[in-house]
Amino acid sequence: MKIHVIGAGIGGMSCAAVLAKNGFEVVVLEQNDYFGGKANRISEEGFEFDTGPSLLTYPDWFDELFIYCDKNPRDYYKFQRLNLITRYFVNNKVVDVMSDIEKTADNFENKFGLNKKVFLRYINKWIKIYNISEKIFLLKELKFNLLFFKNAIKWLFSTGFSNILQSMSSYNRRLENKYVEPIMNRFATYTGSSPYKTPAFMNQLAIVEMINGGYYPEDGIHSIPKAIYKLCLEMGVQFVFNTKIDEIKYERQSFNISSGAKNYKSTVVISNIDYYHTQFLFNRKVNTSYSKLSTSAFVFYWGVRINSDKLKLHNILFSKNYENEFSQIFEEGVLPDDPTIYINITSKINSQHAPKDCENWFVMVNTPANLEIDNRDNIEKIKKVIIKKIEEKIGVDLSKLIIYENILTPKSLSVSTGSYLGSLYGDNQNSLNAIVNRKKNTDSTYNNFYYVGGTVHPGGGMPLALRSGINVAKKIINEA
Ligand SMILES: Cc1cc2nc3c(=O)[nH]c(=O)nc-3n(C[C@H](O)[C@H](O)[C@H](O)COP(=O)(O)OP(=O)(O)OC[C@H]3O[C@@H](n4cnc5c(N)ncnc54)[C@H](O)[C@@H]3O)c2cc1C
Repeated sequence: MKIHVIGAGIGGMSCAAVLAKNGFEVVVLEQNDYFGGKANRISEEGFEFDTGPSLLTYPDWFDELFIYCDKNPRDYYKFQRLNLITRYFVNNKVVDVMSDIEKTADNFENKFGLNKKVFLRYINKWIKIYNISEKIFLLKELKFNLLFFKNAIKWLFSTGFSNILQSMSSYNRRLENKYVEPIMNRFATYTGSSPYKTPAFMNQLAIVEMINGGYYPEDGIHSIPKAIYKLCLEMGVQFVFNTKIDEIKYERQSFNISSGAKNYKSTVVISNIDYYHTQFLFNRKVNTSYSKLSTSAFVFYWGVRINSDKLKLHNILFSKNYENEFSQIFEEGVLPDDPTIYINITSKINSQHAPKDCENWFVMVNTPANLEIDNRDNIEKIKKVIIKKIEEKIGVDLSKLIIYENILTPKSLSVSTGSYLGSLYGDNQNSLNAIVNRKKNTDSTYNNFYYVGGTVHPGGGMPLALRSGINVAKKIINEA
């Protein structure tokens, strides 16, 4: 059976590899002349930048794909577990979050006076809840059968009803520590959501990084899509690049996928494009906006002539008023005036990612998924805000040190990856309703039309996009 996958992102390619391994003829149609989607690579003027994802979690899930295809993952990519995951600049203090929770708890106690036992008790609660959630919601395609409801009831009792009703930030107020609260609240942004709205049980997101660990692939994140692409080719997947799909129609028991004058026919189609963008291809109406979508971002890829000893691989410079930042993003739909700044510098680990005496700074701020904010004035404004804050917190004036610049904006992300209004992960998870109603992997009208990637179940981020691809491929194999 011939299957078409639209989009060569992580979800699409992982799905294609599993299907091809099982004897299906798989063709991937990709608009760009490269694979990887959001996880692309810029190589210019001696600088290397991963364009989107920078933190690898769940590396064992990626290994699982290669092992399933009878390959040794270590022949394709290698990674290291980070000892220090993220350096946080909160108010006037600095703290390191480590892969070892005991050390993180020590740092919180020594720097911020948070009793170690209180923090470990807090973490242990979320570890328990996370372990149940992983089995029910993440590892498989959602099937609303008896087993699901039995597990869901178990999950409800262990989570506690109050953690469904109150928000993440209101739960975290029990830590009674103005420095640790924003650090724990920040995990809501891993789903592009607000900690002031997402339910408290989403605190379990912290477990993924703080307990399971943060990882760095040798030569950066791009090694991951590169490895999956190689695997796909070895499994016999065909790629057709420079093929932008502009319409999908269902006619006479099969899908007609059009790219300009060229048509592809298929009885089974998998869309790895953003869920909402796919609805446009079907000529369906979409009714959503920044208040329901996950965040978008401005990312500055800066080649900097510097050797910044105060910064590590991952760094966060918090805004003064975190709550106001999210209210500007989700309620007003405007660019926050004092955004939290994320700085990723891979040349700290891979010296070949920047020329001598230079570093490759990936500097990101969250924005609403609203293309109206994407204009020259806002870019200049936000750049000044970032440079000022870096000077205040780290003591360096970047303005004269930037020797290379490239910028990702909500519009450019939308054009290069098809993400609707530039949202990073499709719908946000700002309410229980949004979480429960996350877009499914199967189309509501056509049984043989599937969705994979970071905008559908089980969620955003590379590991979950991969998981969706594997789950959908296995479903198709089981039903064939
Ligand atoms: C700035 C940023 C930072 C991030 N940070 C992290 C992080 O630290 N860790 C993490 O795990 N995740 C992170 N993510 C999220 C992660 O990148 C994504 O969730 C994941 O890569 C999405 O994969 P996907 O399978 O949904 O495909 P996508 O990457 O969305 O790719 C979709 C593909 O479909 C193609 N396409 C779109 N429209 C068409 C069309 N009409 N015709 C043909 N092809 C089309 C696109 O060109 C693209 O190749 C980040 C994302 C961004 C943008």
